[in-house]
Amino acid sequence: MAIARARSAPPDLARDPRPGLSGVRPEELAAWLTERRHPAYRARQVADAVWRGTAATLDEVLTLPAALRDELTAAYRFDTVADTELRPSDGGLTEKGLHRLSDGALVESVLMHYPARGARRERHTLCISSQAGCAVGCPFCATGELGFTRDLETAEIVDQVRHAARRLAADGRRLTNVVFMGMGEPLLNLDRVLAAVDALNDPGRFGLGARHITVSTSGVVPGIRRLTALGPQFTLAISLHAARDALRDVLVPLNRRWPVAEVVAAAREHATATGRRVSYETTMIAGINDTEEDARAMAELLRGDHAHVNLIPMNPVAHTPWTASPDEAIRRFAATLAAAGVTATIRRNRGQEIGAACGQLAAERAGAPAAPAVAWRRQRLEAASARALRGQRSDEPVPVGVDA
Ligand code: SAH
Ligand code: SF4
Repeated sequence: MAIARARSAPPDLARDPRPGLSGVRPEELAAWLTERRHPAYRARQVADAVWRGTAATLDEVLTLPAALRDELTAAYRFDTVADTELRPSDGGLTEKGLHRLSDGALVESVLMHYPARGARRERHTLCISSQAGCAVGCPFCATGELGFTRDLETAEIVDQVRHAARRLAADGRRLTNVVFMGMGEPLLNLDRVLAAVDALNDPGRFGLGARHITVSTSGVVPGIRRLTALGPQFTLAISLHAARDALRDVLVPLNRRWPVAEVVAAAREHATATGRRVSYETTMIAGINDTEEDARAMAELLRGDHAHVNLIPMNPVAHTPWTASPDEAIRRFAATLAAAGVTATIRRNRGQEIGAACGQLAAERAGAPAAPAVAWRRQRLEAASARALRGQRSDEPVPVGVDA
C-alpha cells in the first residue's frame, strides 16, 4: 500500500469547475434555459448536439444561436475529455483509449468488437472507468497498484461512452454494450455512477437498455444493497476471485471489511429481488486461487444460486510475482464448478499485448516504480499469500477509503 500511495500523485492542473453537459439532467438544463429566457425547444437542440451530434465543440453546433453557445460554454463543458490517445490491438478487434481529464488525471476505456457469429449479431462493447485509480488495492490489478486519485464526475464517465459512440458512428456502427470494468470501484462512486447509468439508459439521451449495461464491483456490500432497493438498473457482476476469506483478504483487500459470505448473501438478495442472474468474475492466478480446494470452496459457496462464473486468466502486471493459471488448471476448476451445478465460462482476455486489463496504460504512463520497491512489494505479497494459503486471515488493515 505504501508504494501505491506514493505513486498516486495528485493531478497537476486545477480541475475545470464547469460541469460537463452530458451529466446534466434534461429538467435541470430546461430550468437553466428558462431562467435565461431561452425558448424551451432549445433544450432538445442542446440534447441532440450532446447525444446525437458529431460536433466536438459547442462552436460547431450551428443549430444554436451564437449568444446561447457562449452562455452555455461559460456554464458547462461540452466534453470533459481533454485528449485521447488510441491504441488498436488484436488486429483491430480491441481499441484502448487513454483519456486525459481537465486536471491531467488519466483514465482508460477499452472498445472491443465482436464480429457476428451464427444467429448472434455483431457487438461493440465499451469498458469504462468510474474513478481515476482505485482505493481497494487488489494486488493483481494495475489500477490497484496506482492507488486512488479521485472520483470521476458523471460527465467524465459518460463522455468515455460518447467518444467511442462517435468513433463507431463514423463507420456506420453502434455501441451495443457498456461495462463498468475499467479503472476504479464503481460502488465507491455510486451516486455519479447511477447518474451516468441514468443518462445512458434514458431514450432521450443515450438510449441503451439496462440489459446492455454491466456494473462490476469488488464487493461493496452497502452499495449492492442500495442497488437492490432501486430494482434492476443493469447487470451486476461481482469480482469474487476466491471463496475462502483468508485468500480473498489478500486478493481483494476490502474483504477484510465485507467478508465473502456477506458479499455473496447481498448478491443473492439482489438476484432474488431483481430476477436477474448475478455473474461472478474470477481472475485465475497460477498456484494462488486455481487449486482444487479453491474450486470446491467456490462450488460450495455458489451451489444452487442463480449465478454464473467467468474464469479469466490473469493479465500479467509488473509489480506481482504472479502469472496466469495454465489452461488445464482453469478447465479443471470449471469442471469442479460444473459438477456442483454452477455454470462457468472460460474467457479469453483481449488485447493483452497492450494491457487491456484497465489501468495498465495509466500505470505504464506513471512510470515504473523503483526496482527495490517492486522487490519489496513482491516479497510482501508472497508472504501474505503463503499465510493465506495456510488458511490464516490477514492482519493488515482495511484499505483507507473503502469504508463506504
Ligand atoms: N473495481 C471493480 C471494477 C473494475 S475492475 C471490480 O473490481 O470489479 C474490472 C475487472 O478486471 C475485475 O473483475 C478485476 O478483477 C479484473 N482485473 C483486474 N486486473 C486484472 C488482471 N491483471 N488480469 C485479469 N483481470 C483483471
Ligand atoms: Fe480496484 Fe477493481 Fe482493480 Fe480491485 S480489481 S484494485 S477493485 S479496479
